[in-house]
Amino acid sequence: MLYFIPTKVYCEKDCVRKHGKELSSYGEKAMIVTGASSSKVNGSLRDVQTVLTKENISYIVFDEIEENPSIETVMKARDIGVKEEVDFIIGVGGGSPMDAAKAIALMVKNPTETGKILYETKPLSYLPVVCVPTTCGTGSEVTPYAILTVHEHRMKKGMTHRIFPELALLDWTYLRCMSREGLISTAVDALAHLIESYLNVNANQWNRTFSREGLAVWAQFKEGLKNAQLLEEDYEKMLRASTLAGMAIAHTGTSLPHGLSYTLTYELGIPHGRAAGLYLAGFVARYQNKEDTDAVLDLLGFEDSIKFQEYMRVLLGHTEVDEWILRMGAQNILADARKMKNYPFAITEQEMLDMFQ
Ligand code: NAP
Ligand code: ZN
Repeated sequence: MLYFIPTKVYCEKDCVRKHGKELSSYGEKAMIVTGASSSKVNGSLRDVQTVLTKENISYIVFDEIEENPSIETVMKARDIGVKEEVDFIIGVGGGSPMDAAKAIALMVKNPTETGKILYETKPLSYLPVVCVPTTCGTGSEVTPYAILTVHEHRMKKGMTHRIFPELALLDWTYLRCMSREGLISTAVDALAHLIESYLNVNANQWNRTFSREGLAVWAQFKEGLKNAQLLEEDYEKMLRASTLAGMAIAHTGTSLPHGLSYTLTYELGIPHGRAAGLYLAGFVARYQNKEDTDAVLDLLGFEDSIKFQEYMRVLLGHTEVDEWILRMGAQNILADARKMKNYPFAITEQEMLDMFQ
């Protein structure tokens, strides 16, 4: 059994300010990579800027990362980063800025290469990456993955290079600004990671330790999330569950709900976590190792897969998706050997469609 997560993780209130010296220790000029607005509202961008200024580290801000970031955006940031001679990247925001930060770190370090290298296997170096997550879903702050939108293929695709952040600074207070829909979608993304890592060909006792702990934490806020009655302490739990889930998938990758979700997100703009969540209960119900699914449901506090399905229906509500899009999603993943290999059983296109709730 192999366990490898080289990211240093701090988790506490005022985390960025408390570890400002360390955050500033990765170079002489930083590029802060973030979205258009949320990091300005929730205080995370100001915190990062404050500590860099205090430590006399110059920086530039690239705040054009869209949801499900594209290769085009990564390349635009790369050109600026090269021109400005930045030597480390700080991703501030949800999975989109954090994933983009990893891809930009690779591209800035290889200034003469084209975006093609994002999907090649030759070993390449990259700039150090620091992550400050402000959603509670992707766990990108502790995973080596970066999922980018490849418009040329009308698809989202994980970069082939594995880039773990050097440092992750977790402060749950940034989550307070999230909308209910944003919290639900990202918390469901973390749930999908915990489950897809546990029910996975690559699962072993290490990643399952993280999944078990994360599922038990998720169970503690599941009613509050459903009933819109979250307590202050639930925000800390949601962020913790998300990072634990990242630690789990860092070892196993994800499985069918994630693979199927990418088409829904690309074609219909359904947010990432919600899109994966729409397949999640069906995935558990159809998974053929009952001992493993019982363990997952038990940790989450559901009697059986029907109760889990009912919960997910109430939490996510109904989403209408045309059958041809569901079919296209199934065909896309059936053609993706990288995703299919994580699922241990034979499965047909129709069975994948039936997972959708
Ligand atoms: P996101 O796409 O990063 O952000 C979604 C929205 O939430 C944006 O509008 C963003 O605003 C806003 N937002 C972020 N933090 C907020 C806060 N604290 N308060 C209010 N609004 C906030 O969402 P995400 O679900 O975290 O990330 C999804 C991406 O991560 C997808 O591309 C997915 O494929 C990828 N992903 C990566 C991994 C991995 O291991 N690397 C795993 C799963 C998913 P702004 O645009 O203004 O910032
Ligand atoms: Zn995800």
